Amino acid sequence: MDDRHGTELMVVGGGIIGLAVAWRASQAGMDVTVLERDATGRATSHVAAGMLAPVAEAEFGEAGRRVLELGLRSAEMWPRFAAELEQASGMDVGLMRTGTLLVARDEDGARELERQFAFRASLGLRVERLRPSESRRREPALAPTVRLALQAPDDHSVDPRLVLAALREACVSAGVKLREQSPVARVEVDEDGVSAVVLASGERLAGRRVVLAAGPWSGRIDGLPAGAGIPVRPVKGQILRLRDPAGPGLLSMVVRFDGGYLVPRAEGRYVLGATVEERGFAARPTVGGVYELLRDAADLVPGVSELEIEELSVGFRPGTPDNAPVIGPGAVPGLAWATGHHRNGVLLAPLTAEMLVHVLEGTPAPAQAAREREGGSPRGSLAELLAACDPARFAAAASRSSDALTGRAVGALP
Ligand SMILES: Cc1cc2nc3c(=O)[nH]c(=O)nc-3n(C[C@H](O)[C@H](O)[C@H](O)COP(=O)(O)OP(=O)(O)OC[C@H]3O[C@@H](n4cnc5c(N)ncnc54)[C@H](O)[C@@H]3O)c2cc1C
Repeated sequence: MDDRHGTELMVVGGGIIGLAVAWRASQAGMDVTVLERDATGRATSHVAAGMLAPVAEAEFGEAGRRVLELGLRSAEMWPRFAAELEQASGMDVGLMRTGTLLVARDEDGARELERQFAFRASLGLRVERLRPSESRRREPALAPTVRLALQAPDDHSVDPRLVLAALREACVSAGVKLREQSPVARVEVDEDGVSAVVLASGERLAGRRVVLAAGPWSGRIDGLPAGAGIPVRPVKGQILRLRDPAGPGLLSMVVRFDGGYLVPRAEGRYVLGATVEERGFAARPTVGGVYELLRDAADLVPGVSELEIEELSVGFRPGTPDNAPVIGPGAVPGLAWATGHHRNGVLLAPLTAEMLVHVLEGTPAPAQAAREREGGSPRGSLAELLAACDPARFAAAASRSSDALTGRAVGALP
């Protein structure tokens, strides 16, 4: 995108990613318009639990390593991002530095948790192994059946709904134009690259710089040449919002278990999530999904049975084929991607915005990052992180539709 000299930028999608990019781009001097299909901040990001949990989320494999590196970097950024956002908006974003407890309820679970402990220790991540008595001392609401726990003291949480409200306010204050009820139907491309965005109403907005941040719908914008799209699939999650009529105090940390998690919020509220289902955009909650979440949570924290159910919702994580995000310039000049954040879009919002703004300002693109790597640049530079999120890795798969990638339900997590 470094051949684009204008300061005008259109961001398609007003979720946490689009709004964070818009805010930071505006602060960098760009003239930003967000095009949002409905109202901003009402889709996936509205549903998210808000865990900032790179250590708890660490996964085996090469893509897992990439997501971990991104997550650790973004988690470091969060306190400052939250403070700046609170200052810019005058609103609280609900950052709670509680740490996270990963808990096993039976022998099989304990064996798996030992394996997870060894894996995290081998990566140098800060995790403490707790005997059952110690885990119950730290979280007295845990059931006596707990077999083993790991404490990840640096994994925290925010309230995504507060973050979204603050981002919206910060965007407006910074001069970002928010166009809600403006679904984008397609982009137009000429020999120089992207030339316009066309709304479903037929209105054509000329512009040479566009960021696609439409969450799980990012693969559905028409007009891109064959092979230039990104295959993004929806990964369904059912999630509950609970409230303790007795007030706060049941749990102090985020508690994760095989099949879900409980995230404490202020005022005795808790988020209980979440199923992970490969069922396309099937928007209705199911008895089985909700039953299993409630059963497992109440087994582990019996006091959950006393909580009131305030809300049951469904969201769709934007997943790419390797479940790592896509951040940076794509095949069409002028068009950049900020999508595919799957289970970690809240965590990765500050870093995504920073990476995108560097791209928009003309700093190293992935090919250049690879050259830097050969030249021995330090690990984890922004250019390296961009290389890890390069949209080009899906060029071959891009022509497949997102629906073709959906299958059966696979489990439960963030
Ligand atoms: C149950 C659940 C729990 C989660 N928990 C966590 C968690 O604890 N921590 C974490 O980090 N992440 C979590 N996530 C993941 C996180 O929610 C996502 O990664 C993140 O919200 C993605 O943000 P986004 O802005 O890309 O997508 P969205 O929030 O979906 O925003 C995309 C926006 O684009 C708009 N749009 C779509 N199509 C168009 C179009 N054609 N024209 C204009 N606008 C369009 C949509 O209306 C929407 O507002 C969770 C997700 C789920 C479902």
